[in-house]
Amino acid sequence: MSESNQKLEQEFLEYVKKISAFEEALSLVYWDLRTGAPEKGTTQRSEVIGTLSGEIFKMKVSEEMAAFIAGLWLEKDGLSDVTRRSLEECKKEYDLNKKIPAAEYEAYTKLVAQAENVWTTARATNDYALFEPYLEKIIASKRQFIEYWGYKENPYDTLLDQYEPGMTVAILDDVFAKLRESILVLRQRVEAAKHQPDPTLLHKRVSKEHQKAFSMRILAKMGFDFAAGRLDDTVHPFATGLNTGDVRITTRYDEDNFKMAVFGIIHEGGHAIYEQNISPKLIGTPLSNGASMGIHESQSLFYEIILGSSFAFWQSNYKDFQEITAPAFDDVSVEEFYRAVNISESSLIRIEADTLTYPLHIMIRYELEKAIMNGEIGVADLRDAWNDKYEAYLGVRPGNDADGILQDIHWSGGDFGYFPSYALGYMYAAQLFATMSKEIPNVSEILASDDYTVIREWLTKNVHQFGMLKKPLAILQDTTGEGLNPEYLIQLLNDRYDFIYKLNEV
Ligand code: ZN
Repeated sequence: MSESNQKLEQEFLEYVKKISAFEEALSLVYWDLRTGAPEKGTTQRSEVIGTLSGEIFKMKVSEEMAAFIAGLWLEKDGLSDVTRRSLEECKKEYDLNKKIPAAEYEAYTKLVAQAENVWTTARATNDYALFEPYLEKIIASKRQFIEYWGYKENPYDTLLDQYEPGMTVAILDDVFAKLRESILVLRQRVEAAKHQPDPTLLHKRVSKEHQKAFSMRILAKMGFDFAAGRLDDTVHPFATGLNTGDVRITTRYDEDNFKMAVFGIIHEGGHAIYEQNISPKLIGTPLSNGASMGIHESQSLFYEIILGSSFAFWQSNYKDFQEITAPAFDDVSVEEFYRAVNISESSLIRIEADTLTYPLHIMIRYELEKAIMNGEIGVADLRDAWNDKYEAYLGVRPGNDADGILQDIHWSGGDFGYFPSYALGYMYAAQLFATMSKEIPNVSEILASDDYTVIREWLTKNVHQFGMLKKPLAILQDTTGEGLNPEYLIQLLNDRYDFIYKLNEV
């Protein structure tokens, strides 16, 4: 590489470091707004967030950024892995933003801001018709943007790729078809099962302090580093990584439903442990993040579903739970408790769904989004299509729009292509666990033990450390030796629900 380009590389790395410093400041301001900021400061705070975001956006699409890309792109194979992947990510974002004419992009930004407000009102008043004209315009914009961005096989691929690089309709159609078939069969068996768990066993009041005490113990066992993170209260739980040494999670407590905070904290803890263990050499680059939405979700779900919803986990932790909450669960056995916690029921609301039905909620959204972006369905027919699919897959039909098509915020923000990441997270987690079980033969003993270090280290070695250095499907391929395979999740669900519903006992 020429000397002038070495200088350019250095300048590029300085530039992205500056962007990531602004981003860290923005995340901190945002975290504060969502956790403890005084109410009277929130309007001005939102202004500041808008200004900071605007400055970061400008840096990402600036003339300087254009010059870095133009100067380094042709020689990128001679760059270090970190610089090359950073450059690729910067170019991807630059192209996404620059390919849309500035005036159209600005109009779209305003449209989306309005649409979110209208959606809030529409949901509160069960009025899809109110939201319809906005949704129509957002979809028209997105379809136009796809024309600017370009696509190879299916227009929807372009949107999928923005959340899950490398993911396509061709892959998803195949894996979702297999997964859906298996879940529907298992759902029928579960519904017909003679030994139904008793959910009323869980109807006990557990104080916030007790929920927190138990969850903190679990977080520590999971390997959450309290010297590199913290836990706070919020309304809508989230995790935010300011840097690898400062990763914050939040939760909400309901004293009549301990499951929400306990499993919520385990889930957000999984996200946080991922970010705490990204290699320090990626700090200050755009790569110091999770590889994708789906891989991030695979880490939270690994802890929540594979570990935290396994019988082995509760065999070792239930005594603690009983002691902390005593005497509430004194008369509930670990098996009764475990079966009740993992009950499966068809429901209308995605975020309240259990492990078995959750992927069905995602497939409904996937199929609709794909049809929308391919121009196969218009907004006027969307509500009926939504309701029909709920009836077909889950056997329930929404009685109003708030419990149906208006339940998620995503479409009002133009976030099409995002939903599949959630279901991918389940499949990635199960596939990773299958490989982990081969490499660590006594993994179920570890789940039942007091020390999960080996599990955390395995995840760090194969997933966490790379941040965005590796793309999602490369992480999967390098670790498990194959591409996305839904069979591991199907097997896990069958084994688990066999046990919970005693499907082999008559
Ligand atoms: Zn999550």
